[in-house]
Amino acid sequence: MEWTVATSAGECGTCRRSFTEREEYYSVIFSSGEEFERKDYCAGCWQGSPENAFSFWRTQAKVKPAPPRRFVDDSVLLDFFERLGESEDESKKRFQFIMAVLLLRKRLLKERSRRRDENGVIWLVEVPRLGKQFEVRDQGLSEPEIAEVLGQMGQVLNIELSADTPAES
Ligand SMILES: [Zn+2]
Repeated sequence: MEWTVATSAGECGTCRRSFTEREEYYSVIFSSGEEFERKDYCAGCWQGSPENAFSFWRTQAKVKPAPPRRFVDDSVLLDFFERLGESEDESKKRFQFIMAVLLLRKRLLKERSRRRDENGVIWLVEVPRLGKQFEVRDQGLSEPEIAEVLGQMGQVLNIELSADTPAES
């Protein structure tokens, strides 16, 4: 699975100004084909979510010299998961499955049932806090494959993700 990875550069992608401590800025994920790209915008350059944005959120620059605190709200992950499910693209479907594994482990998703069709297994999962259900196709990936993609995904979203991420709270 190929991923174009762009972590936060710590500066606005439009005016190139470095973010100051605690400055609020916006991060956008763009998707083209199988690639995802990240771009950050300072508040001055932000004109709302670009039309071709795949996902976006507001975040805050870290306080230096504290160690980088990588945190993203659960709702960002759930939103990302939901958007991946809207795509017919096969690579996004694979990615959505991995996201489902992560969210199940974080207990943000609950598995309701599994069914089988001619192409394999489909999981029915529910987001309890949204009262929504989603069908996710089991991609038959091994643990190391899942762990690798979670690592890449964490870099794209600029957060720490691991397969055994504990639930927050
Ligand atoms: Zn700017």
